[in-house]
Amino acid sequence: MAPGIFSVREKSYSFGQPATNIYYVPDGDGGGLLYDAGYAMYRSFNDFMTGFRGLAAHLKQSGRIPRAAPFSGLVTTIVLSHEHHDHCSGAPLLKRYFPRARVLASKATTALLKSQDAIHKDLGELMEHLLMSLFYRIVRAQQSIHVDHILQGNETIDCGDRKFTVLLAPGHSPGQVLLYEHASGIMLSSDLVLRIGSTWLGPPHSDYQAYQDSMDGIVRLNPTLMLPAHGGAILNPRERVQELLSFRRLREEQIIRICGQAPQSTGDVAWRIYSERGIGTYLMAKGMVGLVLGHLVAVGQLRRVKKGRKTKYVPAVK
Ligand SMILES: [Zn+2]
Repeated sequence: MAPGIFSVREKSYSFGQPATNIYYVPDGDGGGLLYDAGYAMYRSFNDFMTGFRGLAAHLKQSGRIPRAAPFSGLVTTIVLSHEHHDHCSGAPLLKRYFPRARVLASKATTALLKSQDAIHKDLGELMEHLLMSLFYRIVRAQQSIHVDHILQGNETIDCGDRKFTVLLAPGHSPGQVLLYEHASGIMLSSDLVLRIGSTWLGPPHSDYQAYQDSMDGIVRLNPTLMLPAHGGAILNPRERVQELLSFRRLREEQIIRICGQAPQSTGDVAWRIYSERGIGTYLMAKGMVGLVLGHLVAVGQLRRVKKGRKTKYVPAVK
């Protein structure tokens, strides 16, 4: 992936769920850091373990891991980027194989994991094919994820000779943490910046303004390479962030134009923009449209009006 940073791609077998990149940084001393823990589904997890065993064998051969290092010690730190189940629900399974590993997460992520709503409200998981798999998934989702250490932001995580700075980057989720290696400019960017498509934002936990602020913060650091949780590496981080931010601006302008034609509810706006792409996209996007509308009210571009029992949006200045 990048010098000394390796990725194991963990497939999901649930409909519509993306594969997750789990990053491994060996510390040269028989331990190492995992950024994200992936899915709890056994099939996905077994794929990951097969991939990880292959990687470990390769790293031993190439001398990056001492040959005598026991397998169970290869992971000493697991950083959970945020509470979404494709990033963290595999942590209890990982702890069975790597009992010495300490799980690190931000305060907000830890609080959300405690409330467990991230997993229990996951519709994709609940709609899953058969009764048996449904049963297993519910059982697995109930495994609580224990966080050993809370990340405050801006501290350094040492991994052998390497130093990663913890960056709090809320927006997509309130407690998202990125890891940034100043020396190389490499950033592990989780869901904040993806190479293809824009990051999902929606209720109940996304924050549109925080997302923009996190993106602005990243641009200021000027990373040279981003390794996201889904899809390929981003070789031009600055341009990619600018591209995503200008895409959001165009979308805001489009929404303001639509509301200028006639008062619109959140559903009206989402339908106008997304209905052509199918009902699934419309439903996914409705939450995001709601966030953008709320943001446009907050910055004085739109205002809310009551139409019967419905809230509609109109331009703030007529
Ligand atoms: Zn996420």
